[in-house]
Amino acid sequence: MKSGMKVKLWGVRGSIPSPHQTEKLDNKSYKLIEGFVKAGLSKTEEIGPYLSCLPGYKVHGWGGNTACVSVHSPEVDIIIDGGSGIRSYGYQLMSGPCGRGQGIVHLFMTHVHWDHIMGLPFFLPLFVPGNQIHVYGVEPDTRDIFSTLFKKPFFPVPLEMIGSTIYHHRLEPREPYKIGNLTVTPYLLDHPDPCWGYRISDQKNVFSHCVDTECTRMTHKALGPDLPLYQGVDLMTFDAQYTTREKYERINWGHASAALGIDLAIREGVKKIVFMHNDPAADDQQIADVEDETRRYYEQMQRMARENDREVPVVDWSFGVEGSEHIIDNP
Ligand SMILES: [Zn+2]
Ligand SMILES: [Zn+2]
Repeated sequence: MKSGMKVKLWGVRGSIPSPHQTEKLDNKSYKLIEGFVKAGLSKTEEIGPYLSCLPGYKVHGWGGNTACVSVHSPEVDIIIDGGSGIRSYGYQLMSGPCGRGQGIVHLFMTHVHWDHIMGLPFFLPLFVPGNQIHVYGVEPDTRDIFSTLFKKPFFPVPLEMIGSTIYHHRLEPREPYKIGNLTVTPYLLDHPDPCWGYRISDQKNVFSHCVDTECTRMTHKALGPDLPLYQGVDLMTFDAQYTTREKYERINWGHASAALGIDLAIREGVKKIVFMHNDPAADDQQIADVEDETRRYYEQMQRMARENDREVPVVDWSFGVEGSEHIIDNP
């Protein structure tokens, strides 16, 4: 990248990978072909334009891999979390310096629930001698986690034999850490085991990663020292595992609904939100239904602002699709 930051979503699912079930895939394929025929189309060159007119979730879905996000900047690329999505990113990295044993990888961990570490044993750059893998986290000690992950009989290759050199860095809560042109600061989220969001900034752009969180603390007072995670933010990835109703039925489950992200964004002036950590039990249509619920909530917030002569909030929000890229590049 020449300037700004590019955030790529390699895994947007929460809790456990959720590949398409075969019978649902059959149904999806049937509906696509049925729609194509009903539209009076028949030529192969019409397939591409037809598919591109449909909502993406009807064609490819939202994605089934668990949490992994990469952040690219002119001087350094970093990874947040090693969910099953990191496996695909590893393949891509292997076509560059990582494939020649000259790679330097920076991996920031939010916490170590299974869905955020399960891809690590399948992250190929780890197995190439010469690669340097830097792992960062506030807690628990990432050194212990790696030695447990690569242990027989859970995994056939012990840590001492994986090839690359791993360096562990303990981050201090709310203390900025400089890496290349980026400053990465961990702030506490609201989760059953401690989980740390990251505010990542260069001189002009701010990205905040706020997954997994229940957002039990919402007011300025309750958020206290963790408020900067939501302030002056250009792009925020946010936990939207539950519908609004599920959120209030599942107290202490550690996840939020999109409406809470909209509330925070409106109050703090977050410009863009990408929702992720989708419920593994939700199929593509159910996530689209949550998107509709969020749209109704956002429009209601706008209407209320208009009726009360308040400034009408504008937030560019969407539900993240696995593989999608989001660029922030302020002048
Ligand atoms: Zn999670
Ligand atoms: Zn978690």
